Amino acid sequence: MYRIGQGIDFHKLVEGREFWLGGILIPHSKGALGHSDADVLLHAICDALLGALSLGDIGQHFPDTDATYKGIDSKILLQKSYQLVTEAGYKLVNADATILLQAPKIRPYVDNMRAAIAGILNVSVDDISIKATTTEHLSFIGREEGIVATANVLLMKNE
Ligand code: MG
Repeated sequence: MYRIGQGIDFHKLVEGREFWLGGILIPHSKGALGHSDADVLLHAICDALLGALSLGDIGQHFPDTDATYKGIDSKILLQKSYQLVTEAGYKLVNADATILLQAPKIRPYVDNMRAAIAGILNVSVDDISIKATTTEHLSFIGREEGIVATANVLLMKNE
């Protein structure tokens, strides 16, 4: 009846890239490097959705060697991942995610991210939680060289 899933993703932060996070564009001097738009939060949620139903992972479904996915909006990847969930007869109950980054402060953007994600997953914004933490300047995250996101989801079988 219920299935839980978890996902984690890492991306390098570099100058000269747009910074897409949680489905929205954030003004910043750096952006995440990747084959797609490198939205680390959406990728973690995709993996959590796929993981909940043992459907493999995002790299398997949307390989970074496939030109189809070059520069792709990760909202499309999230849509496609959730389509696999709904086709299997499940729906999202809630998602809870944490972003690990040193800068910028993302609190002002969190509600827009929640709305973007809730819209794709067809749930209320109250069902999407996004938290953030710095690493107190420790590690590659603290040095602003990279960003990490983790996500957990709960799915429920449709009756
Ligand atoms: Mg990724």
